[in-house]
Amino acid sequence: MSTPKILILGAGYGGLLTTLQLQKKLNYNEAEVTLVNKHNYHYITTWLHEPAAGTSSADHARVNLEGIINTNKVNFVKGTVQSIQSEEQTVTLEGGEVLSYDYLVIGLGSEPETFGIEGLKEHAFSIRSINAVRHIREHIEYMFSKYKNEPERTDYITFVVGGAGFTGIEFCGELGDRIPELCEEFDVDPSLVKVYCIEAAPTALPGFDPELISYAMEVLERKGIEFKIGTPIKQCTPDGVLLATGEEIKSKTVVWAAGVRGNSIVEKAGFEVMRGRVKVDEFLRAPGHENVFVVGDCALIFNEEGRPYPPTAQIAVQEGETLGDNLVAMLRGELPHKFTPHLQGTLASLGKGEGIGQVGSKKLFGSTAAMMKKASDLRYLYKIGGVGLAMKKVKL
Ligand code: FAD
Ligand code: NAD
Repeated sequence: MSTPKILILGAGYGGLLTTLQLQKKLNYNEAEVTLVNKHNYHYITTWLHEPAAGTSSADHARVNLEGIINTNKVNFVKGTVQSIQSEEQTVTLEGGEVLSYDYLVIGLGSEPETFGIEGLKEHAFSIRSINAVRHIREHIEYMFSKYKNEPERTDYITFVVGGAGFTGIEFCGELGDRIPELCEEFDVDPSLVKVYCIEAAPTALPGFDPELISYAMEVLERKGIEFKIGTPIKQCTPDGVLLATGEEIKSKTVVWAAGVRGNSIVEKAGFEVMRGRVKVDEFLRAPGHENVFVVGDCALIFNEEGRPYPPTAQIAVQEGETLGDNLVAMLRGELPHKFTPHLQGTLASLGKGEGIGQVGSKKLFGSTAAMMKKASDLRYLYKIGGVGLAMKKVKL
């Protein structure tokens, strides 16, 4: 019998943890494991708001796969997945290379959800990859330098963040720290710079604890962020945004942080999806496909009340670990374990030394939350790359 082929698509939280678990647990020749990823690095998506604002470098959020993948055990293919043909059990990469599999793991992450709003795809930025955030940072700096030459163009120094979910809030926290630095660097009067955080729902961070929301908004307002709550963005143009209230905000920088959907490759492959996410069974299998597993933001799972879990790194990591173990079990003819998320809480940063969090019934504010977030980052880095990576990356 030939060696079973396990093909993993995407080296994000879900795909990487599946790979590392297989790397750790499989014996030589038990399976041929291949990991395909667009880049030869993994990125810490949960930090991307920092390099986007320019408060840390994009390199800081990159982790070279070379240092954490054992190429004696895992074949790494640097390539971009173009399509999945589940009937033929193959995956096609850009450039035409075709890879076959016995077991497929889809961990291709998410795409911005634009809800069909006109102009967003064309004119807004989004915080989604190393290259995307480098672009945002450079664009913001360019806007400051352009403003110096055309001081009547206040749209150059007006910034719009669409969505006050966790991504929008964390990005505003960083932007609030970065703007004074940029004003200093480019000799711009800080009082002229505007940052709007625009939220459709009646509150920022819908569904989160009200006391923590108030705290977050106060911190960000102190940093100069102006909230427009209960005000959906209706349209984005090359000149700014149009709000449902009829108000127009002129801005050359619109960052769309108003939600995500699963990678469109999954839907195009014919899997049944809701907002691009496959409603997986308790073993993380795509319905009707015994050998196709989905992890991370491409997977949709529900809690006991029938409500979907939000797409988070926390859940993607747990899915990857469980799936890695289950694949090993299945190869050995043992029974797989059902996946149940163990939620450890939510921690969000609000810029340097500031944060909010909820761990069990405990609410965390300010530097305590920021420290807990660093500890959680440290745990993750240790998990994927040991003490060396944790020490190299964590900023204390
Ligand atoms: P990702 O981590 O996005 O990885 C997908 C991988 O697939 C990437 O390596 C990508 O390059 C690769 N890929 C994509 N398309 C292709 C293709 N066609 N071919 C080959 N490779 C491809 N969650 C938390 O739990 N805690 C947090 O504090 C937190 N903070 C966040 C902060 C920000 C700014 C953002 C944007 C998100 C945050 N999240 C957080 C959410 C979390 O980052 C995601 O839920 C998580 O990254 C999902 O993991 P994933 O493995 O599905 O995908
Ligand atoms: P989200 O869906 O959590 O929040 C998006 C926000 O945008 C919502 O509040 C929504 O009401 C708003 N919105 C939607 N349409 C709008 C419109 N037309 N105009 C204005 N506002 C609009 O999305 P996200 O913040 O990108 O987060 C994505 C996932 O990543 C979530 O599961 C989140 O929990 C997770 N995440 C977690 C953390 C953390 O734990 N620290 C940080 C970032 C992201």
